[in-house]
Amino acid sequence: MLNSPPHTIARRTDPQTSYDAAAKAPTGKMRQFVFDLIEQSGPDGTTIKEMVAANPDIQASSITSRPNELEKQGLVHYRGDKRDGARIIRVAAHDRGYRLCGCGMVLSSFYGFKCQYC
Ligand SMILES: [Zn+2]
Repeated sequence: MLNSPPHTIARRTDPQTSYDAAAKAPTGKMRQFVFDLIEQSGPDGTTIKEMVAANPDIQASSITSRPNELEKQGLVHYRGDKRDGARIIRVAAHDRGYRLCGCGMVLSSFYGFKCQYC
């Protein structure tokens, strides 16, 4: 019997992910700024409420519309969970491939993230 070849061991770093991120960089200064805030929040994500509170020197209206623009670009997503009543936003790198419905069900991409229960 042969031992498992070393290349089957998963690498810690994924060059493809960083390449994709660079290829889809957000356009616009504020959009980039908000994207950076969301990216820095890591797997826990952040909310508009938290970003506005953490940046009192920036007009709230400059922040609030950016996440939807970034979502259209496929750079961030809403999983469906909330914190302090606000929807949590995460970068695409932390997309675990499912969404949460308001009814508490886990939605899969198989059903196009549409709830089968409500
Ligand atoms: Zn539902």
